Amino acid sequence: MSRYDSIIIGAGAAGLMCAITAAQRGKKILLLERSNKIGKKILMSGGGRCNFTNLFMQPENFLCQNPHFCKSALSQYTQWDFIALVEKHNIAYHEKTLGQLFCDDSSKDILNMFLAECKEAGVTIETNTTITGTTYRDNRYHVITETNQYISASLVVASGGLSIPSLGGSGYGYQLAKQFEHPCYETRAALVPFTFSDHHKPLFAELSGLSVNTDVTTINNISFREALLFTHRGLSGPAILQASSYWQSGEDIAINLLPNDNAEELLIKLKHNQAKSLLRTQLSHHLPKALTQQLETLWWPKSAERPLAEWNNKELKDIARKLNNWALRPAGTEGYRTAEVTIGGVNTDHLSSQTMESTIHKGLYFIGEVVDVTGHLGGFNFQWAWSSGYVAGMNV
Ligand SMILES: Cc1cc2nc3c(=O)[nH]c(=O)nc-3n(C[C@H](O)[C@H](O)[C@H](O)COP(=O)(O)OP(=O)(O)OC[C@H]3O[C@@H](n4cnc5c(N)ncnc54)[C@H](O)[C@@H]3O)c2cc1C
Repeated sequence: MSRYDSIIIGAGAAGLMCAITAAQRGKKILLLERSNKIGKKILMSGGGRCNFTNLFMQPENFLCQNPHFCKSALSQYTQWDFIALVEKHNIAYHEKTLGQLFCDDSSKDILNMFLAECKEAGVTIETNTTITGTTYRDNRYHVITETNQYISASLVVASGGLSIPSLGGSGYGYQLAKQFEHPCYETRAALVPFTFSDHHKPLFAELSGLSVNTDVTTINNISFREALLFTHRGLSGPAILQASSYWQSGEDIAINLLPNDNAEELLIKLKHNQAKSLLRTQLSHHLPKALTQQLETLWWPKSAERPLAEWNNKELKDIARKLNNWALRPAGTEGYRTAEVTIGGVNTDHLSSQTMESTIHKGLYFIGEVVDVTGHLGGFNFQWAWSSGYVAGMNV
């Protein structure tokens, strides 16, 4: 039976940060990982270049039932702290867009950075570990695996959420929370593409691979101006992924295909200036041609060959309204299979925002994605993992 100051379950982003922080304080740390490799999501993230943080970190970039909860951890360990760590390891990086920082070379640089820090601080890492039981007796946590038994003064749950099971997504953290009578919010897939089953599906499939700049707005009036990508199953791209975090089944989304234009003014002007031209021809100066053709099939098939001069203003207004505010009802999302994150999870009402320790069970900590804190797309989720991991690491 081996004894540790703290056992951390899950060697992903949050668990690794917690481990190095606690070990640097002289704590004896055991990091238990179920899969054969640590940090699988770090490796796969940001298209292999890991969007590790964002320059413009604001509490508003996070969804949580308690919008204030994330503030303390994010201010105790900021994006600048993580950038300093990256620079200490001479990792080259760049800002891609909207403050998003990516490695120049590979996500591997970030994982190697953690491996080096773990080695230097003396963290014990066990991979391929199946935990068969966790109990609390005599003020100690007892973790039993298929091959060993471990005892520690504190236990950190960093096992992530349900997203992408092949990359480690698991419900284990919620199960542990339940075991220790810690309430959880219902979970759902977020930062995930929408699927469609109505007449839009073949249209989107036809446009698969095409990307357009749009404004996507949810019914609670949250808007994202970013790229939208048509797919074989529906819609994806940053604007859609962001909107999916605010979307509930059965709700509409509104897409503004001309976010820089008042479509009504534009069409009326075109009618006067390009009277002999077709709507399709003129719109294709503002939208990709393939999209214009599909919109024509959908919205004005009978007027396809009618010159603009023959359209009345009401007809043009109707098309303009759709161009600026195309209401669509997704059938669903692609679910945890492709979702970048899981929304919901461990209820923050019973966690200290300063330390991430449970207020119900002494010495029990929850960090990273398992907690009901979900970031926007753009490096916010990793920053939450680093920040919450750090504050737990400073307190275990
Ligand atoms: C494809 C993809 C790309 C992404 N890209 C970005 C990005 O560029 N920027 C960004 O900010 N966010 C990104 N994210 C989100 C980000 O990866 C997560 O928010 C972050 O990894 C959460 O950290 P975590 O440590 O809480 O969980 P994870 O990183 O998921 O780590 C949890 C770990 O716990 C292990 N585990 C689970 N159950 C057990 C168990 N029973 N016993 C032991 N170990 C267990 C898992 O195997 C895993 O290693 C991406 C996500 C995905 C899926």
